[in-house]
Amino acid sequence: MNTAYLDIHPWKIIEKGFNSERVQSSESIFSIGNGAMGQRANFEEQYTGSSFQGSYVGGVYYPDKTKVGWWKNGYPEYFAKVLNAPSWIGISIHVNGQILDLNQCLSVHHFYRELDMKNGIYTRSFEAQISKNCTVRVESKRFLSMDEESLGVIHYSITSVKGSCDLSIESYLDGHITNQDSNWDDPFWEHREKSLSKELIYLHSQTHKTAFDVGTYAQTLLLDENGKVTDDFKTQSKNWRLSQTKEHHLSEGKQCTILKYGGYINGMNFDASQFEAEAKRIVDQAQKRGFEDLLKRHQTVWQSIWDASDIVIEGDDKAQQAIRFNIFQLNQTYSGKDARLNIGPKGFTGEKYGGSTYWDTEAYCLPFYMATKNQQVARNLLKYRFDQLDKAIENAEKLGFTNGAALYPMVTMNGEECHNEWEITFEEIHRNGAIAFAIYNYERFTGDTTYIPEMGLEVLIGIARFWAQRINYSEFKKAYVILGVTGPNEYENNVNNNWYTNFLAKWCLQYAQEQILKIAQQNTQRWSEIKSKLNWDESEIQQWETIASNIYLPKHPTQDLFLQQDGFLDKQLDDVSILNPEERPINQHWSWDRILRSPYIKQADVLQGFYFFEDQFDLETLKRHFDFYEPLTVHESSLSPCVHSILASRLDKMEEAYAFYLRTSRLDLDDYNKEVEEGLHITSMAGTWMSIVEGFGGVRIVDNQLHLDPKLPKEWTYYSFQINFRGTQVKVQVHQESLQVSHDNPDLVVFCKGKKM
Ligand code: BGC
Repeated sequence: MNTAYLDIHPWKIIEKGFNSERVQSSESIFSIGNGAMGQRANFEEQYTGSSFQGSYVGGVYYPDKTKVGWWKNGYPEYFAKVLNAPSWIGISIHVNGQILDLNQCLSVHHFYRELDMKNGIYTRSFEAQISKNCTVRVESKRFLSMDEESLGVIHYSITSVKGSCDLSIESYLDGHITNQDSNWDDPFWEHREKSLSKELIYLHSQTHKTAFDVGTYAQTLLLDENGKVTDDFKTQSKNWRLSQTKEHHLSEGKQCTILKYGGYINGMNFDASQFEAEAKRIVDQAQKRGFEDLLKRHQTVWQSIWDASDIVIEGDDKAQQAIRFNIFQLNQTYSGKDARLNIGPKGFTGEKYGGSTYWDTEAYCLPFYMATKNQQVARNLLKYRFDQLDKAIENAEKLGFTNGAALYPMVTMNGEECHNEWEITFEEIHRNGAIAFAIYNYERFTGDTTYIPEMGLEVLIGIARFWAQRINYSEFKKAYVILGVTGPNEYENNVNNNWYTNFLAKWCLQYAQEQILKIAQQNTQRWSEIKSKLNWDESEIQQWETIASNIYLPKHPTQDLFLQQDGFLDKQLDDVSILNPEERPINQHWSWDRILRSPYIKQADVLQGFYFFEDQFDLETLKRHFDFYEPLTVHESSLSPCVHSILASRLDKMEEAYAFYLRTSRLDLDDYNKEVEEGLHITSMAGTWMSIVEGFGGVRIVDNQLHLDPKLPKEWTYYSFQINFRGTQVKVQVHQESLQVSHDNPDLVVFCKGKKM
């Protein structure tokens, strides 16, 4: 299973030696980003071997017309694709007339690449034998500035190791780009304007249909062997490839450096008429500051990120490297500055999953951003859904729901549903519950009681209305049931009474009622505004109560167990341990039909409910359910191992908790699911963080107070983590024999294992 090829290092990801079969995997793993833009770790120089080019701009998407075999009423018209943008990184080099291309040169030696997570820099070096008499060494450094969000910087040095070289340098913008996952091979971009000079190459592009404007720009400088900077590049343009070119002679043993500043100006923040001036301002400033200063500013931001979020693990470098990799990638994906952006399952590292927002954000990502950034960032994530409430209501209307019932999409960019498989689009409705749960979780953690009256209550009411209409009364069962759903376990579809969905629906109905009563009492004016805005009918609350108190929750007839769904016991319940390892993951080997009939569970389903609502079940009950469901779980969603790790910690099953931790945290580094070349699993990385903080650390908010229950995996001698709890930075250090909790708030009371510290 383990296909690791990267070195273990506490702060770095390191690849040594050139392996052409790993290029696409490494392009994912070494991805860089700054929350506003991001890119796969494609080579700057030409590479004709297999590669997946990707460079993305936050919030920019294309509505790719839906492609399905058989159209179903209610399907969305399009799937919002995270869009591959014009690339600005290209530096094509000819050496004595021959192209530098690691796929074509005679040999490659000393290939090395490194992602320095502490400082946010991606570096690469190698020696390429271009011809019998000529070998060059390349050393490149690249970062996307955390300090100036439209700026990326490349420092690309070439040394003539053997022979003297006449270099032909072409530094370019490439507008000829496509998405790998395009449905109809539509052109996604229309290029509207270009300009070329030695000071700037610039391309204004607009997306078809969505009309997002993006300005891609670059400026190139050359530092010769004496450190003299020249910018006397010529320009040329062909097929939307805009280039700055220069010839340069290198004698043997000498080095020159190409400095390239580039990036995107996003039309979500600037009018297209300002793009070129803004690009010019950025490159002028970059030139004045120079590489070292730009890097220092970038590093300073990373330092503050790590100060607030680093997790230190001693005794286990593999685990240490992995958690930092997860924290690093999460910060590269989302900064929380802009409430219009969200966290895509692949972030800026690939195209699969298209649109940016899944239930992953509320169920998995919110706790990470809430505790390592601040309340405003978490609030922005909630506001994103509030801003899309009208669309969620429209989405429900398209499916036949009325009266302000809201069904949030399975996948979205702008609030409209993008997903188009009926068993998920129409049936995986538990996603609605996660959005309500996140509101509860936010208030519980931050103590901010203003969000619900200002925005959250409207969302809670829309969601409760949806459940009240989606549920029906079964005369046969004498209870309310939810038919035709897909639970979190997508390996069975169209089931009746998925326990998790029913339980969540019940909770949503009760929580919405509770909040209405609270706001109606505490904030009469706001409540009367909401009532008239939402056409509130007093009888709704009674109807919700009737449903919630009589919702059907499937149970085993003889054992004290909740059943995943009505028909679960009809399956042949053989453990995962009997599966042939050659056939794992089953989703890459079995027919869909076989998967659907099997008892195998893709990811936490009943156990997801036990994770969200742990205070409603005692440890014995949790243990019974964990012992029943986990052995049937194949963990083929990246979201699975983290929840299991947290629950295993709670149950003191520390070996399992640790194994799940390694699996979630090293999912991409060790490519457990054999698909890392498609991009990283960004949203599950927040789950990795939870498996330390909530799992091993046992962080909980109980009765408005911070509780800890730290446990130490035997593989570790020490770990520490920190959370921003209501404005106080709390650092928790767990040693084998002792625990230290430090903060500077004299009023903060922390409980450890139920006792006041
Ligand atoms: C999981 C979903 C998840 C999606 C995006 C799927 O494989 O089953 O729960 O929302 O990936 O991460």
